[in-house]
Amino acid sequence: MLNNIRIVLIETSHSGNIGSTARAMKTMGLTNLYLVNPKQGIDEQAIALAAGADDVIKQAKIVPHFDDAVADCSLVIGTSARLRHLQNSLIEPRECGGKAINAAKCGQIALVFGRERIGLTNDELLKCHYHLTIPANPDYSSLNLAMAVQLVCYELRMAYLAEQDLPVSSIDNSNARTNSMATAQELEYFYQHTEQVYTQLGFIQNQGVMQKLRRLYQRTALEKNELNILRGMLSTVEKRIKLVRN
Ligand code: SAH
Repeated sequence: MLNNIRIVLIETSHSGNIGSTARAMKTMGLTNLYLVNPKQGIDEQAIALAAGADDVIKQAKIVPHFDDAVADCSLVIGTSARLRHLQNSLIEPRECGGKAINAAKCGQIALVFGRERIGLTNDELLKCHYHLTIPANPDYSSLNLAMAVQLVCYELRMAYLAEQDLPVSSIDNSNARTNSMATAQELEYFYQHTEQVYTQLGFIQNQGVMQKLRRLYQRTALEKNELNILRGMLSTVEKRIKLVRN
């Protein structure tokens, strides 16, 4: 299960934080690290702070964009200290541990961490199903990046260990659902399709509507077959528009 969970770091400035993240992950049994456009490469500082977890950084996948790191994931969880406006999708580390371990029985899961100075952008947050916030001191809530990773990975490990005691049948039941969850890339195509069709119809005139729709659909955790129905509905509307125009 832990092999299906990846830690994604977005545009990290300090290579030392990449090393410390690798160490934080490996102590908790995680090894899949994605680096999105890191500002410094893997250097001596990173290796030094990895303290023996250099295998994790050496096999890290370096990709140019957020989308490349999460395309095949059926669950994407973004992290930030400033999330109060996203009430509906807000979770804390303990709940996140359970959700991620459950979903990792079949699908790929991404936990996304932001830039040291500015965190994640609103666009990036919109692409996440859930938003994790560590309930820190409200007057001083921003943890060091690798320490935030450590805390989240600890909860993943706790949820993973708790799962080991469960009877096999309860694991099988949830497989059926996680197996068929839509991936981030399939959802992206669906959002593009929705925007295209409803812009043609004149219903969508600004980005606000798409942002609200994204939040709505992310919350519902769509399965592949449900997404196919929605895509089918959009295609039918598209055909009608063409007929009317011709
Ligand atoms: N000034 C930035 C802080 C970034 S800290 C901001 O306000 O967003 C770097 C990263 O560590 C964050 O993007 C997030 O991924 C993680 N992080 C730090 N503190 C956190 C907290 N309290 N809850 C969740 N994630 C946190």
